[in-house]
Amino acid sequence: MPGINDYAPIVGPSVISELYLLSQRLSGKTVQNVNSTSVGGGVAEILTRMVPLLRELGIDTKWDVIKGNEKFFNITKKIHNALHGANLVLTREDWEYFLEVNRENAAEMDFYGDIIFVHDPQPIALVDKKEQAGGKWVWRGHVDFTKPLAPVMEFLESYINRYDTAVFSAPGFARDLRIPQVLISPSIDPLSDKNKELPQQTIDGVLERFGIDKSRPIVTQISRFDRLKDPCGVVEVYKRVKKHVDCQLVLAGGGATDDPEGCKVVEEVKCLATGDPDVHIIFLPPASDVEINALQRASTVVLQKSLKEGFGLTVAEALWKAKPVIASAVGGIPLQVKHKYSGILTYSVEGTAHYLKQLLQEPKYAKKLGLNGREHIKNNFLITRHIRDYLLLFLSLFYEGDVIHLGQPHCP
Ligand code: UDP
Repeated sequence: MPGINDYAPIVGPSVISELYLLSQRLSGKTVQNVNSTSVGGGVAEILTRMVPLLRELGIDTKWDVIKGNEKFFNITKKIHNALHGANLVLTREDWEYFLEVNRENAAEMDFYGDIIFVHDPQPIALVDKKEQAGGKWVWRGHVDFTKPLAPVMEFLESYINRYDTAVFSAPGFARDLRIPQVLISPSIDPLSDKNKELPQQTIDGVLERFGIDKSRPIVTQISRFDRLKDPCGVVEVYKRVKKHVDCQLVLAGGGATDDPEGCKVVEEVKCLATGDPDVHIIFLPPASDVEINALQRASTVVLQKSLKEGFGLTVAEALWKAKPVIASAVGGIPLQVKHKYSGILTYSVEGTAHYLKQLLQEPKYAKKLGLNGREHIKNNFLITRHIRDYLLLFLSLFYEGDVIHLGQPHCP
C-alpha cells in the first residue's frame, strides 16, 4: 500500500510536510471511527484509505463497525431515503428498534478514542455513551441534506446536538445546530487500486471479461444499485442517444451490507434493458476496485445521473481519469463539476441525453472537459487535502480558542 510520501510527486512535497507538522501536534491521540459497513459506498471507501495514512502520520486511528440485522438496515435505509426527501413514515416502533440496536452496540463497544468519529445516521445514538466514555465526539453526515424530511431530521438533530462538532460535505447541507459545524468535502486516493494508472492490457482484459466492445463508444455509470442513483433514468438516456450514436451502456455496481435494496433495483434495471446486447448490467462483488478503475478508464463518457448525492466519489474518480462527465446538479456534485468547464451538469433525462449525444459527437470538446476536470480534482479533492482538513478539525477540538504553535515542518 502506498505511503504518505508517495503522494509528494502528485501534490508537492510542501503538502506532505504540512501533514507531518499538523499530525505531530496530535501524537498520542487516538481517533476511533465508527460506521455501519466496512465495504460498499463512499464512507467505507474513504475510511479504507484514510485509516492507514493517518496511522503512518503517527495518529493512532481505529475503525469499528456497528452490528445490525436486516430489520435495522431496512429502517436505516428508510432514514437514508427520508433524509433525501422521500415522504416516508418512520413509526414509533421503527425509532424504538433503531435506538435499541444502537444501545446494544453501545453496550458491546469499547469507546477508547480521544476522538470518537461517528459516520452517518446509523450509529448516531452511540452518543448516549459520551458522558461515560469521555473524549471528543464528532458526527459526520455524508449524505445530501438539501431537503430532508423534517420529522426525521429533527429526530437526528436531537442527537447531533449532543456531539462536540458536526461535519457536512457541502455548503448547501449546513444546518441550524447548537454545536459548531464544519464543511469538509470528501476525497479520492489517486494511488489506490481504484484510481492508479493501469496498463492498457488490464483495461482490455476487463472489457473482454464483461463482453464489452472496445471499438465502439462506452457510456458508463458506476454506482450501487440504488434508486437515488437513477439507473433506470440512465437506461432512458441511453435509449434516446442510441437512436443517433451507436454506443454501449455499462451500468456497474454492487451493494453495501447496510443497503438492503440493491437486488430489487438491479432486477428493475434489467427489465428495462431487456433484449439490448449493448446494455451491460454488471453486479460487482466487493473489492472490484481494479475492475471499476478499468471500466472508468475505458469509458468514452461517464454519467452520474443521481437524484440525490452526498458528494459523489464516482464523479471525482472519473474526472481524475480525465473522463468527460455528465452528472446531475445535486448535492455535492456541483462542487466537482463546473458546468461546461470541468464537465456537464444536467437536470433531466432529456438534458442528459442532449449532452451525451453532443459529447459523443464532439470528442475534442469532451477531452477538454475531462482534462479540466482532472486538474480540478487534483487541486481540491485528493486525499491529502482531506487528511489536512481532518487534522485541523481534530486540533480544533483540543485547542479551542487557543493559538496553535506549529514549529518546524518535519518530514522523515
Ligand atoms: N463503489 C464500489 N463498488 C460498487 C459501487 C461503488 O467500490 O459496486 C465505490 C465507488 O467507486 C465509489 C464509492 O463506492 O468510490 C461510492 O461513493 P459515492 O459517493 O459515489 O456514492 P455512495 O455509494 O456513497 O452513495
